[in-house]
Amino acid sequence: MAEAPRAFLTNLLEAPGVSGYEQPIQRVVRAYAESFAEGIETDLHGNVILSAGGGDSPRVMFAGHCDQLGLLVSHVDDEGFLFVQTVGGWDPQQLVGQRVTIWTDDGPVNGVISRKAIHLQDETERKQVAEFKHLWIDIGATDKDDAASAVSIGDAVTVQLGVQEMRNGVMNAPGMDNRTGVWVVVEGFRRAVERGVTASLHCASTVQEEIGLRGARTSAFGIDPQVAIAVDVTHATDCPGVDKRERGAVALGKGPVLSRGANVNPIVWARLRDQAEAAELPYQVAALGRAAPNDANPLQISRAGVATGLVQIPNRYMHSPVEVISLDDLEAAAELLAHFACSLSPSDSFIPV
Ligand SMILES: [Zn+2]
Repeated sequence: MAEAPRAFLTNLLEAPGVSGYEQPIQRVVRAYAESFAEGIETDLHGNVILSAGGGDSPRVMFAGHCDQLGLLVSHVDDEGFLFVQTVGGWDPQQLVGQRVTIWTDDGPVNGVISRKAIHLQDETERKQVAEFKHLWIDIGATDKDDAASAVSIGDAVTVQLGVQEMRNGVMNAPGMDNRTGVWVVVEGFRRAVERGVTASLHCASTVQEEIGLRGARTSAFGIDPQVAIAVDVTHATDCPGVDKRERGAVALGKGPVLSRGANVNPIVWARLRDQAEAAELPYQVAALGRAAPNDANPLQISRAGVATGLVQIPNRYMHSPVEVISLDDLEAAAELLAHFACSLSPSDSFIPV
């Protein structure tokens, strides 16, 4: 991966963006896009929308949600421990033993989530799984007043952010869901613009996906595209314990996943496949028998309907502090989006007949 896109990815993964608190991520997107987007706009909901292209039809929208799972401080007790509400679908087992950061108006505050040491647990406690009501954040405060002088109710919390490289271009970080999707749509947009795309191209870094696919709905209404591609992560099934008979075969490093099913326009799907074949990009295919649990869902049923495609990045350990992806998959997905956008012409019809 080239230096600037690589730095963009790291910057995305090191900035916090809990649903509803995405501004730090959106600043990273805006700063990177400044040199190649013709238009950069933040809408009332907080979506960042880049635009460029030759102005021809069709109007195309790429969408990647920029928000991540997190917690909100909801209560401070007399001893100065913080209690939280969850934002998005956490597995509480994944939070025990984590370092966390509380993102206050005055800067980050460090803390930990843990529980009673194993030596102090009785037989029944040792067998219990962690539940949210039993978890707290310790920031080292002496009492309630001390804690309240550092953090406020409603402050957003993330697990400690940061990227770790592994073997073979594999990388782990919290928030791969869906900073990698944002990276792919912005990078695909940049490459399409560089190659002189003639379609009217829009790229949205959408907000609040993790709490109900909300930013894609507002941004799609505003952009009013004919064709849209959502980019998100999907479960890689190439690790122990996942049943391929149930979930299909999706492997890390074998290319982006092109989903087929009711939520995907068949002509967009075939165009993505053909573009991947022509450019010799690796890809995988997955079946999707229901409405997608991601931005592809509101995109498709925006206004009078949008011809929607879904490109997904294989991800192990989704919604954990150690989400794992392959950089090769990101590269191939960005290339695919650029090829797709540059292949469009005003005579294309995506009406399924
Ligand atoms: Zn996601």
